[in-house]
Amino acid sequence: MKKIDQSVGSFNDSLIPFLSDFEVNEIQFIESVFDFAKEKHFGQKRFSGEDYFIHPLNIAKELIKHQPDKEIVAAALLHDVVEDCEVSVSEIEKKFGHEVAKLVDGVTKISLIEMKEKALGLEFDKNHISSQIDSYRKLLTAMAGDPRVLIIKLYDRLHNSQTLEWLPKSKQKFYALETIQVFAPLAERIGMSTIKSELEDNSFPYAFPEEYSAFIKNITVAKEDREKYIIKIIKILKNHFPGSEIYGRAKHNFSLYNKLLEKESLENIFDLVAIRIIVPTVEKCYHALGQIHEIFAPLPEGVTDYIAKPRENVYQSLHSIVIGPDNVKFEIQIRTPRMHKIAEFGITAHWYYKEKKIRSTGEKDAKRWIEELGSGDIFGSKKNFFSDKIFVFTPQGKIIELPKNATPLDFAFHIHSQLGLSCYGSKINNKIGHISAKLKTGDIVEIIKNERTKPSLDWLGFVKTNFAKNKIRDYFNNLERPKHLSIGQEIVNTQLMKFELLPITEKNFKQLSDKISRSKLPFNDLETALVLVGKKEISKNDVIKVLYENANFSENKEAKKITGVGNVNFEIGNGITYRLANCCKPKNIDKIIGYITLQKIITVHKANCPETKKFDKSRIINGNWC
Ligand code: MN
Repeated sequence: MKKIDQSVGSFNDSLIPFLSDFEVNEIQFIESVFDFAKEKHFGQKRFSGEDYFIHPLNIAKELIKHQPDKEIVAAALLHDVVEDCEVSVSEIEKKFGHEVAKLVDGVTKISLIEMKEKALGLEFDKNHISSQIDSYRKLLTAMAGDPRVLIIKLYDRLHNSQTLEWLPKSKQKFYALETIQVFAPLAERIGMSTIKSELEDNSFPYAFPEEYSAFIKNITVAKEDREKYIIKIIKILKNHFPGSEIYGRAKHNFSLYNKLLEKESLENIFDLVAIRIIVPTVEKCYHALGQIHEIFAPLPEGVTDYIAKPRENVYQSLHSIVIGPDNVKFEIQIRTPRMHKIAEFGITAHWYYKEKKIRSTGEKDAKRWIEELGSGDIFGSKKNFFSDKIFVFTPQGKIIELPKNATPLDFAFHIHSQLGLSCYGSKINNKIGHISAKLKTGDIVEIIKNERTKPSLDWLGFVKTNFAKNKIRDYFNNLERPKHLSIGQEIVNTQLMKFELLPITEKNFKQLSDKISRSKLPFNDLETALVLVGKKEISKNDVIKVLYENANFSENKEAKKITGVGNVNFEIGNGITYRLANCCKPKNIDKIIGYITLQKIITVHKANCPETKKFDKSRIINGNWC
């Protein structure tokens, strides 16, 4: 087990040695924060048994190394007091100012989200990064608001992942998985490559215990060899680059494990050993590359110039795969101190340098960071999701991504159309809320449904998503559908009979519908065609031409003569003209049928008329008096 300090010393012992870059008034400010936070955590212990305050202090020290910014240091010291010590954000604001309070508030909010996720049992699957995990990362970033919040959170995670062994067994696996699948990718995407690897390596044994022990068995010998090899290479390089910083490392466990999964053979992995040289300037980077290629033969196509073409997360370096002693292939990375800092501290360091070492980044700059983060395709989206998206939870803990200003009704439609249509009310964070309320990131939303609820056209006035709008419109269109269908059928049938064509009946409906689906018309069935005719969105003749391609569209003179009859409803339409049969002379008390004659005229017979026995059954249609 790792050796750990048991208790926290005084400010002078524990923090002063790290504050050489700060001015006197800043040191005084940090001291007052230190005293306050230490006292608030007094008596609290970590799972390891050490004083709780060791934890925020550790994070503050790590952050100071990279960013001498008194607000971020203060916020790191205070990051757990709201959650664990019943200190309010407004008290922090009063004592230490708005900016520190805002950072602490951001970290606290993220911590609450994490707890919610655990309580609600978010499951991780090692074999795929689900869209839920992706949403979760976005949610955390959106919640953070300020990239410094994210950085504090990542260093918080780092320290907690270093002390995973002390966590209760039941929590270890979840915490480790969450670290690998949510926080490590976040660190990588903002360019904090070193933190990313550390988060992964610390969590690997707890997240995937079986894979880890199998991996360690396979790799142990190789790792010892690698370390000896690294020493040998560094010795050679020191002779050629006196005064330069040269580091070597055996490849991190977790990424190596993943590479093995992908490529299977160790021989194909060139960065089992990684050597890094830090030289003062960009010019010297290229110069050093040339020198190295004189010492070790480069692999053709083994050079990658991340200086000319930085990675998305602003990482820069020259990489070259070379053939070293004993024919071992390995990777050399060449970079300047600034590039090195960026590799460790990511986008924030990039910004820090761009702003010529300004001390405090300030709120305005923080906003610009956020914009860079959000617009830099870092999360796979060109859009700035910080400003146009929100992330809310279902009561089961599923994360739902919605546009800004979305309402519970949008949420309901997103879950299921039927839930949207029967949405009666909502609970937002357990309080009754109107279905038109504006949701915020982090809200837990529950829909109250009532099967008797009918959608209202007013809904179109406040829903935000096109999906919900379309579903509401569809609903109202469908309400009218039966009416339009019968109007359409009547229009088409009347026209067909004028042309002496067989009208659409139950019996030929399917066959005619197939003709529509094979046609060039932009819909697939006769019913839709008839509804559209009924709505006057398409013409009856367009449909008829498809139903009877080769017909002779000349009007039937005899049908024209029949007028003034309209009190029989036929299955093929309500207003279709007919004549009464001479044989049986049906009256309006008789049960009747209609018969479509060869001239496409409907004659109405009594249902029990003896003549009907001779009829072609496919041309008999139902009808009744109205
Ligand atoms: Mn913490």
